[in-house]
Amino acid sequence: MTQQLSTPKPQDRPTLIWHQLEGQKITQQLGVDPETGLSAQEAQSRLERYGANELKGKAGKPAIVLFLLQFNQPLLYILLIAGLIKALLGSWVNAGVIWGVTVINAIIGFVQESKAENAIAALASSVTTDAMVRRDGQQMQVSSRDLVPGDIVLLTSGDKVPADLRLLRGRTLQINESSLTGESVAVEKQPHLESLAADTPLAERHNMAYAGSFVTFGQGEGIVVETGLNTETGRISKLMNESTTLVTPLTRKFDRFSKTLLYVILGVAALTFAVGMAWGNSPLQMFEAAVALAVSAIPEGLPAVVTITLAIGVSRMARRNAIVRKLPAVETLGSATVICSDKTGTLTENQMTVQSIYAGDRHYDLTGEGYNPHGELRDGEDNPLPLDAMPAPLRQCLIVGMLCNDSELEHKDRAWGVVGDPTEGALLVAARKAKFDRTELNHSYPRIDSIPFESEFQYMATLHQQDTEGQWLLAKGSVEAVVGRCDRLLGSDGTAAPLDDAGRDRILLQAERMASRGLRVLAFAGKAFRGHHIDHADLKEGMAFLGLQGMIDPPRAEAIKAVQACKTAGIEVKMITGDHKVTAAAIADRMNLSMLDEVIAYTGRDLAQLEQSELTNAVQNGAVFARVAPEQKLRLVEALQSKGHIVAMTGDGVNDAPALKQADIGIAMGNAGTEVAKEAADMILTDDNFASIEAAVEEGRNVFRNLMKAIAFILPVNGGESMTILLSVLIGRGDVLPILSLQVLWLNMVNSIAMTVPLAFEPKSHNLMNRPPRNPNEPLLSKDLLKRIVLISVFNWILIFGMFEWIRRTTGDIPLARTMAIQALVAGRIIYLLSISQFWASVAARLRGLKVPLGDVSAIGYGIVVAIIFQIIFSQVGLMNFLFSTAPLTLNQWLICLGVSLPMIVVALIANRLNPQN
Ligand code: ADP
Ligand code: MG
Repeated sequence: MTQQLSTPKPQDRPTLIWHQLEGQKITQQLGVDPETGLSAQEAQSRLERYGANELKGKAGKPAIVLFLLQFNQPLLYILLIAGLIKALLGSWVNAGVIWGVTVINAIIGFVQESKAENAIAALASSVTTDAMVRRDGQQMQVSSRDLVPGDIVLLTSGDKVPADLRLLRGRTLQINESSLTGESVAVEKQPHLESLAADTPLAERHNMAYAGSFVTFGQGEGIVVETGLNTETGRISKLMNESTTLVTPLTRKFDRFSKTLLYVILGVAALTFAVGMAWGNSPLQMFEAAVALAVSAIPEGLPAVVTITLAIGVSRMARRNAIVRKLPAVETLGSATVICSDKTGTLTENQMTVQSIYAGDRHYDLTGEGYNPHGELRDGEDNPLPLDAMPAPLRQCLIVGMLCNDSELEHKDRAWGVVGDPTEGALLVAARKAKFDRTELNHSYPRIDSIPFESEFQYMATLHQQDTEGQWLLAKGSVEAVVGRCDRLLGSDGTAAPLDDAGRDRILLQAERMASRGLRVLAFAGKAFRGHHIDHADLKEGMAFLGLQGMIDPPRAEAIKAVQACKTAGIEVKMITGDHKVTAAAIADRMNLSMLDEVIAYTGRDLAQLEQSELTNAVQNGAVFARVAPEQKLRLVEALQSKGHIVAMTGDGVNDAPALKQADIGIAMGNAGTEVAKEAADMILTDDNFASIEAAVEEGRNVFRNLMKAIAFILPVNGGESMTILLSVLIGRGDVLPILSLQVLWLNMVNSIAMTVPLAFEPKSHNLMNRPPRNPNEPLLSKDLLKRIVLISVFNWILIFGMFEWIRRTTGDIPLARTMAIQALVAGRIIYLLSISQFWASVAARLRGLKVPLGDVSAIGYGIVVAIIFQIIFSQVGLMNFLFSTAPLTLNQWLICLGVSLPMIVVALIANRLNPQN
């Protein structure tokens, strides 16, 4: 990989050996107090001084190499060699035209390819990385571009390290540095190491974190010591972004196809040469015939069309909130047979509202909607509950929900929202409805320590100062995780009673009853504690159960529609969630997710107990997989793939990366996703919405459809031309060919590109999603497509050969006969193009008064107009007559060409019967 680096900014800081310096020296050196961070003003001035924290430079080869690579196609070798031989034979005009046309072709290909590549690269890099920093004493999120030396950066698992950091603090911080060291196992960092030997190799500098590496576990805090090009990554001039390539399974198939074609062409050309000689033609004549045949058989316009179609697919997907990171996804999406989707936030709104509380063996309800903290607490009989009469378990359950919480409510533009985890936002709202005040609570119970929520453990814990002598340890999380840790139960009278297995079962039953209404249930617990630090071990025992809160998270309306669309399209949707099985099944039922009459649900534990063969069946029949651990996602993907499925899988966490990589299409969440997940994904959803996956599938199918249209359109012309030349030689007419190699070149390049490129812009047909997914192992040319190509080729042959013979016999004017044969072929081609595209369907719909936008089919119209203008120039302009041996036509002759092409209407209709294109 090569790259052009922008010139480094003038460096007015000495280069220091950061891992050797003590943390305090570094903060002094960089003029920052780690407790407050830089001021916004200082950060701004440093940004101006040191420049943005980014690696500029474009991955890829220099333009001239890219241009020359355009000629690196076996099919073009033939052309170049043919030109060379023509030149050696003294036909300079011919040679010039051949080379000229190939150069023009290469320029078109080059421009299109770089445009496509840039567009894809720009999209991928439009997904920016944010960093959490401390500035002016506040935590805030800034774009990682804006980081400057001296910034204090906070890292949590899932983050991409945004710059080179000297770590100041950390808790079980593990970082994967494979992009720098090649070592794929994460290293445990040791921020407390004050000074390491200057010559410590990078992989062992445990008090540093380097830009481009990933936090896979724990949390930490560090000071930015180097940014942009001065980072280790910048210095070894390795880019963090992967370079984009335009290679996909389909383009590989094309390459293989054209290689085979090459051999066939060479073989047939040699045969032509031999047969023609046997008929007594001169070697010169037969060379022309062999070249004409080779040129006529090569679909020169096809590679450009493939690139453009893929690029257009990418930009259409982006418009529908799906950013493609790896080009092959565009195609693979179109053949997806299963989509495994996260529930929370992707299928559902992530708009949580607590509706139901169970505490002290009593039920309560909460009124109100969304995050608006206006609502009322009601008792089991639906009477308003006086707030001063709240029993102790209910009070504590609500208080814990508010204290053991990292989110904030936000009132903006007259709407209530959450900054942070929606699940936690709902708990804040619930407590506020019961008139608890967060500032007051935080003041009475200041937080001393915390264990953040991780899907793996399914709970979060916080430690608070309770009164002068004791601390209070609080936990909230999934029912299983919390109740399993409780051995006491807070009763209505405020005293804790022992909790036995039967008691635990009662709680689980209550939780299940809430879950069956589709509620997401969290359990709350607490205990008195002595100490100032907590660890997972501290929650093992002695916790007192306080209560349950159940919140709704309604399905997204557009996701329900999208699930339906997927089912019609033969794509199964499976829900993967960390949530409770019963909750998930209730939501799946509401969304009509299952392909069967009932929703079959499994938990991660169920799956773990199954044999491989049972697992494969379960994975096929099940629609819901609940309490699934990230590493089980990988097994799910593998099991589905073993059944021949093409699997799309969503993910957001650090541990989702292996499953995202294994899936045929890994999809990361743009908002909720970690950097690790985004890096592993093929595609990123900017709105985290399931409907965008369905939209991307639709676009993926359309890309494939349009490529098939391009093939169905281009190949029959090659077929007609080569049949003409081949048959002429075989019947001993190789001395006066109906069409010359240069004319063929014109048809296949100039004319083909003008008329085929618009097919890349074809809109979706209405029944695109009424068909089962495409089998990715299907050959490029299906049987039906082959039939179509042969049919149209034969008609094209009749047009060229018939017209040529007719005019030659009646007028004896060979250039005129050739020109009219070509113009008749193009006229037929226009009719055929209209029959393949959606042009008529759209025009007809508009005539019937339907308001379909003509926008995209108008490309076809422009293409045809351009092609007609080119054809007129081709035969009416003197220079062209000289270059291409054509003759000007009279109006009558034009009309004749048009007239004989009309039967194409019937032939095209038959072809559409054989092999429908829409
Ligand atoms: P999902 O987002 O698919 O529901 P998660 O792994 O995020 O899965 O959550 C799993 C379970 O952990 C939830 O059902 C809930 O009980 C609990 N949970 C979710 N978020 C939090 C949180 N912030 N704090 C404590 N527990 C949580
Ligand atoms: Mg979640």
